Formats: sequence, structure tokens, C-alpha cells
Amino acid sequence: MTSLIASGARAVSTEALKPLDTFERRHNSGTTQEVAEMCAVIGFKDIDALIDATVPENIRLKKTMDMGEYTQPLTESEFLTMMKNMASKNKVFKNYIGTGYHGTHVPTVILRNILENPGWYTQYTPYQAEASQGRLESLLNFQTMITDLTGMPLSNSSLLDEGTAAAEAMTMCSALNRGKKPKFYVSNKCHPQTIAVVQTRAEGLGLEAVVGDENSFDYTAKDVCGVLVQYPATDGSIIDYKPIVSQAQANGIRVVAAADLLSLTMLQPPGEWGADIVIGSSQRFGVPMGYGGPHAAFLATTHDCKRLMPGRIIGESIDAEGKPALRMAMQTREQHIRRDKATSNICTAQALLANIAAMYGVYHGPEGLKQIAKRSHDFAAVFAAGAEKLGFKNTTPEFFDTVTLKCPSGADAIVKACASAGINIRKMDADHVSLAFDETTEIADVDALFKVFAGGAAAPTVAQVAPSVNTTMPMARKSEFMTHPVFNQYHSEHEMVRYLKRLEEKDLSLVHSMIALGSCTMKLNATTEMIPITWPELANIHPFAPKDQTLGYQEMFRGLEKQLCEITGFDAMSLQPNSGASGEYAGLMGIRAYHQSRGDHHRDVCIIPVSAHGTNPASAAMCGMKIVVIGTDAKGNINVAELKAAAEKHSANLAALMVTYPSTHGVYEEDIKEICEVIHQHGGQVYMDGANMNAQVGLTSPGFIGADVCHLNLHKTFCIPHGGGGPGMGPIGVKAHLAPFMPDHPSMKDGAVAVGGDKPFGVVAAAPYGSALILPISFSYIAMMGSEGLANASKRAILNANYMSKRLEDYYPVLFSGKNDTCAHEFILDMRPIKDATGVEVADIAKRLMDYGFHSPTMSWPVAGTLMIEPTESESKAELDRFCDALIAIRGEIRDIEDGKVDRENNVLKNAPHTAEVVTAKEWNRPYPRDLGAFPVEWTRSHKFWPQTSRIDDVYGDRNLVASRAAVEVAVAQTA
Ligand SMILES: *Cc1c(COP(=O)(O)O)cnc(C)c1O
Repeated sequence: MTSLIASGARAVSTEALKPLDTFERRHNSGTTQEVAEMCAVIGFKDIDALIDATVPENIRLKKTMDMGEYTQPLTESEFLTMMKNMASKNKVFKNYIGTGYHGTHVPTVILRNILENPGWYTQYTPYQAEASQGRLESLLNFQTMITDLTGMPLSNSSLLDEGTAAAEAMTMCSALNRGKKPKFYVSNKCHPQTIAVVQTRAEGLGLEAVVGDENSFDYTAKDVCGVLVQYPATDGSIIDYKPIVSQAQANGIRVVAAADLLSLTMLQPPGEWGADIVIGSSQRFGVPMGYGGPHAAFLATTHDCKRLMPGRIIGESIDAEGKPALRMAMQTREQHIRRDKATSNICTAQALLANIAAMYGVYHGPEGLKQIAKRSHDFAAVFAAGAEKLGFKNTTPEFFDTVTLKCPSGADAIVKACASAGINIRKMDADHVSLAFDETTEIADVDALFKVFAGGAAAPTVAQVAPSVNTTMPMARKSEFMTHPVFNQYHSEHEMVRYLKRLEEKDLSLVHSMIALGSCTMKLNATTEMIPITWPELANIHPFAPKDQTLGYQEMFRGLEKQLCEITGFDAMSLQPNSGASGEYAGLMGIRAYHQSRGDHHRDVCIIPVSAHGTNPASAAMCGMKIVVIGTDAKGNINVAELKAAAEKHSANLAALMVTYPSTHGVYEEDIKEICEVIHQHGGQVYMDGANMNAQVGLTSPGFIGADVCHLNLHKTFCIPHGGGGPGMGPIGVKAHLAPFMPDHPSMKDGAVAVGGDKPFGVVAAAPYGSALILPISFSYIAMMGSEGLANASKRAILNANYMSKRLEDYYPVLFSGKNDTCAHEFILDMRPIKDATGVEVADIAKRLMDYGFHSPTMSWPVAGTLMIEPTESESKAELDRFCDALIAIRGEIRDIEDGKVDRENNVLKNAPHTAEVVTAKEWNRPYPRDLGAFPVEWTRSHKFWPQTSRIDDVYGDRNLVASRAAVEVAVAQTA
């Protein structure tokens, strides 16, 4: 016995009891062996030598980040336990607050197959339309649903939230008058957060938002561009706005209606009573409230306003075979082309949420939606009748789903009584409360309400009250909607799940292959990071729920702020902006408010390098700033001499510099500290565009470098998935002197939850914490990586970029590099010499990559005729190699053209991508074998991604804009 034990004896070390696997190993994907191999290829002894040679010494952080309790990494299971514990501090009350946010049942078939499915949520914005037909179809469904419900001919897909959609509508009204009518009327019956967002936006644009009773506005005034009304109004009442429409329009004032989508299944749509623009949120179509977002807003309008329409529009065009195909229409309106003259500053929007809302429409169909609406209305009617019996007067006799009641003993008492029964209602003022009913309301819920409202006296029940309630709908809708087959044939779960799968399979996402999008950081969106977002404790919280019900959220926000402050080197964070562009706008408005607080109202010049992202000039324009563009030098760096001259010239009026670091050319500029100093010397503030944080985290930081404010794209560097074009979050970090100016929110006026500074410049998003529901994704990423893991991620991102650049440099010239001939986390391949020699354009290479199973890197930005590659830390060496192999093989195909072996026009590149239909067609008359088109490399034979259409003709579609399903059907019929 003794000897047996002795021979098997093994001392247990504490080391051996540590978790077996760390999250970092899954996220930073190369192994130690692979890292060594890659370093050898680049010619460095190890990764630290590469980093030392790449990141300038004077901006290098000398110590690891101290994120307090988040410094040491958590394992995935440790994180989930911690997060569950935190989330459980939120209280999920029965909710009737309304105000633009409502309970909804996310159909589980949509929950599992879209929201929880990386095949949908890891897609990129559908710039490569041939590999995006699935989501483009779904977004077209969204547009069709919105046009049908609003009664307008044209809709976009999609905007950030209802508040910003209203602000965009105001901008449109102003632009329709070429900015010559600076006033915009806003009815005081709009939702308070909408009014606040519009007011702030007006301030920056130099417009005036006049808030008041829509019946007392002067509609004969000559300086008014538009009027905004809410339908039904924020108190729930249904108002006939026709008299206002005729007065306003007689004088050229446009009418904007903020409408509740579900109500439009029962109410005459604004398009039928003459509105020019209809905006709203699609949240209650199957997207959880999530403490404020993300949700897809919409904007619908008439055809003559199409060029001024904000956001993305999906439209039909034709492909090279002459077949109908979808793609994003009229992109020339957008900021990546038009910069400060863009129609809007929507880059990342809410594509994933628009898809969910559209699928909710597909699943329920028009009849299902009507039933949901009718039932919500009936509950409101029954409740109102019962409450009247109890002495509460209904002040909204004409309502859809929301009623406002005058309370015999004041609003506070009943709000409090409800709260102690686990119920949230909305306090309108000292005497009134309002309640909104929705899809999730049940009979027992209303019985529970009656009990509270009876205040101890005998309470009626739904069963007693309902039979005597007669409801009529004023302004009842008579027209049909959503008659297209897509909304009428997928109502069983089998049909639905197959439709979802069919669309998913048309699209290339991160589940297929790496998406090496320069400046758009498509890294791993880990499953564990995504788990919490569907927990009811996080998903089912109304954004205006009282503070004592959201302690879990508050704790998470404070944790995330702490993490992000340390990462950016800033003193405070605002978690309100819900996109990168929105962060830029918020940061610049903060800078503006700071200058004004010092009496410097004249400081309005913003210096922006030519290489900046289009959102930068567009944001500056939204803040009323004058843009001074400066150039770059031969290496892609900011031209420091030109910058100095500009700062000197505009010294008295300098407001800010907007700078991206490392530069959009993928280079760490040595002069960045000096650049910041120059701006400060002239009294300006430095705005750093933090989209490239993936090359900074743990190595340097905007605060350390000398910036005053910076936004972070949490949907790039911090793992929120791109969702096919959104959601995103763009929080801003600031130095202490700017903290007082951070945005606040009207829902927080009672001090419910701390948000913003004490001298806030205004409100940038409809909800106080923007798209709060997706913040746990970034929070978990940081917590599971820990300080060292994050720094390693930046190092690996730089290593991977340099490795690829090295492997490719003999085939394609690499544009720009840093001091030691290395690049940062991304690099640019110059395709212009190829075009000159062979006529092959960058688009041909991009489309040919699809035949190899890859999404193209960023095309022609920031330099026309180039590809910008950003591999990220998450890709394994095998995947990096596969991508390089594809590009190298394509170089061979180009060489054949160069050598005159194949035709310049009729070849695999010009004809790319190759669909299954084309390569299996009866006729084949191309000068290369069919399988060279479809199976150019071995791996495509075992797992082939098939592009769905041949090359799409953008220009054709823009000339004949067709942007909804019914319209498409007609167009097909006409061409057939
Ligand atoms: C992505 C990006 C933005 C804009 O962010 P959105 O969330 O799309 O609005 C701004 N600047 C740079 C450099 C970016 O890459």
C-alpha cells in the first residue's frame, strides 16, 4: 500500500489550481510558436522588439494599466457569474412608462436565429453587395414595412433613435430651404427626450427650435422651415393634425410627424394626412427596451426629398447578367463622399435591429400586427374605464395604447403605490400620470393595476369592466398595408426559420472568414460577451426606470467608465453617444461649450487633415464649426508645417483639431505630441478620433499623448459586433476641464441617475446611456482580457498587420510606413500601378476576393485606388496566410493580363464574382475554364462561399431609385 501511494504521489501546487484556460488565448489567436514564426518573417527577434521599433518612444506608456479590480483577467465563467450578480441588482418591474419605449415579445425564432446568431450579428455594413443580398433583402423588407405603415413612398434603414431621427428631419427641413429659414417649431406634446435632442441639434446648427403648443404657432411666419408633432401625442391622445398641415404647408412649412409604428396599424397614417416626413422608432417590433437601446429608428419621406434623406437607403439595381440585385443606394449623399456637405452623419446605424423589426413584421404579418395593436388598445380602454370608476379622470378620451389620468390625490401618491407593487407608471406632472399598454400586458397585470389604483377599496376586475367598454378608434385606418407576399407567407415557425436561414446563407460574415477592414476593426465578438445581452434583468428595463431599479446597470457603467478612463488616459467618460459619429458630435459640442464658458464664443475653426474619416468634417459642420483642411506629407503623416501655419493663421478663432491616431494611413506619427502642443498654444482643443484605439490600448493613450477628448468605437476596438451596419456605441472620454460639459438627459432631471456634467451642453441621444444593452459586451471583453491581455491584443494586432504586409510587399506596393519601415495595426496596398499597367481596378480585386471566399478590405479609403487591410489580433496565422495566399494568387491572375496571356476585358477579375448560376449555365463562352471562375484555390472546393449575384451596377440603381418591395415587384413586372 505504502509503496503504491508513494509511486503515485504528486504534490498539488496552487499554480495547478488556477483556471485551465484564459479568455485571452481565445481572443488573441496566434500561438507562441506562430508569434515567433511571424516575428522571424518580419525580421524581429520577438514581438516586443517589433513594438519598440514601431510605437514612438515618447508616447509609450511605461507601466501596465491599472484598472483596479479589472486589472487581472477573469475567466469566461468567472465573468458570467460576476455579471449575473451585477445584473440581478436591477429590478424588472411591470412597465407602463411608454414615452417611446414599450414592452415587446422578441419572437424566440428571431431571438435565436438573428440576435444570438453570429451569422447575422458579425456581418459588416453591406458595401460588398454581392455577398450581402440576405441582409439587403431584410432591410428592404424594413423599408417596405415602414413605407406601408407610415403611408409614405420612401423610407431609409435606419437611424440611431427617435430623438436623433427628429433632429435629422429638422436638418432636412432646413436644407429643403437651403438654410434660409432658421426656425423649427416643436410641439410640446412630443416626447421630452425628442424635444431635448432636437434643441441641442438646433443649437449646433445655428437653428432655433421653438417649443410650444402646435395650435398657437404662427404658421404665416416666413422664417420657419418645419414643425414637429407627435402622433399619438406623448400623453397618448390622438390628435387630428390636418388643420395644422394645411396652414403650415400653405406657407411652405414642412410637417414632420413622430409616429408610433404599432399605432399606425389602426390609425390613419401620417402620409394620408399630409405629413412631409415621418420619423419614429421600431423598438416595439420585437426589440427589447434594453434600458434605452439599441433600436432602429426610421425616417420616411416623399420622393422629391430623396437626395436630402439621411442614413442608408437600400435600393434595387441590376447585376452584370441584367438580373435584379440589391445594394445601398445614393451613397454619394453620405459623409464618406460628401464630408461636411453630407446629408447626414449616419455611418454606423442600427442594421441588426432594423432586421429584427423587419422580421417581426414578416413573422406576424399585417393581421398579427393588427391583433397586437388592437389588444394593446383594448387593455388601455379597459384600464381607463376601470380607473374612471375609481375616481381617476381620463384626460385623453381619444387614445391608442396610452392614457393619461388626473389623479384625485396627486401623481406622486399613485406612482409610489405602483412602485411598491412592482409597477412603473409615468408621472406627467403633479396631478397626472400616464400608462402605456403593450404586447406584454396580460389580464392579471391590469387586475393588479386596478388593485393599486383602488388604494385599498374594492377594486374592479378586467372581467367585470371589459364587457361594458365600447372602443372606437378616431382617425381609423382604412388603407391596407404590408400586402407584399413576404409579410404573408412566413407565419409558421418552420417557414420562418427557413427564411431566416436562407437570407443568412447569402451573406458573408465572420463565421466564414476574416474581414480585414482597415479602420473598421472586425475582431472576435466572443460568445461569452454576447450572453448577458438577452438576460431579462438587462433587456427588459425601461430607459426611464427609477434609479433604485437600475443599480446593476449603474454598477456596470461605473465599472466600464473606470476601465475606459484608464485605457484612454482621461478623467471622465460619457456613455451617451450611440455611434462613433455621435461621439464626435458630442465631443465637439463639449469643446464648443467649454470655449463659450470662457467667453470665447468666436472660437469656431476646426482643423481637419484631408486623411480624416468623413464623419469628422460632417460632425464639425453639425457643431457650426468652420473647417480648415490641412494636407499630409509623402509618408501619409500630417504636414506639420501646414498645421502650424493653419493654427497660427486661425489662432484667435481656433476651436479644435480633429486627428486620428495612428493616422488613417496606418502610421504612428512621431510628431503627434508636438502637434497637440501647437494646438494648445493657440488656445485650441485636441479631438482624437479613437476609432484606431486598437493600436493604442495598453501601449499609449489619447490622454497621455495630449488629446483633450476622444470617442471610442466600442463596436470596433471593444468587441460589439458590427451587426451588418450597427449597432454601435461611441462613448467619449475627456480631460477634467471638459467633464462639466458632458451631455445630460431630461429623464434624469429629478436626479434619478447621474449622467453628464454640471454645465451640460445638451443631449445627443434619446436615452441617457445610449444603447445601454450592448455595453456589457465591451465591459466583459475588458474584464476578461485584463490589463496585460489588452496590451497584448494591441501588440498582436500590430504583429499581424506587419506580418501580412511583409508577406504581401513583393506582390503589391505597401503605401506608407513608419520610421523603421513597420506599420501600425493596418496597412495600405497600392493598386494604382496595377490599374495603370493592366486596367484592373481595385474593385475588380475586391470582387475577385469573393470568389476566394473573402470579404474585401476597405476599398479606396483613405486613398483612392488602394486596399486597407486590418487583420486584428483575433485571426490565427493560418487565416492570415490563407488571406495572403488569396491575394498572392490574384496577383498571379493579374500577371497573366500583364503578360498578355489573357484578355484585358474578359478575364476572371473583370467578371468576378462568379455565381453558381453563371458557372453552371448551359452556355459558357468565357476564355477560361468554369472552375477557375468558381474554385480558384483548393479550399474553395471543400467550403465554398457562393456570391449571390454577379457584379452589381451602382449607377443604374441610382438613376432609377427603387427602394421598397412593392415597388420592386412593379419594376420586375415592367422589365419582364
Ligand atoms: C468608423 C469610424 C468613424 C465613425 O464611427 P461610426 O460609429 O460608424 O459613426 C469615425 N472615424 C473613424 C476613423 C472610423 O474608422
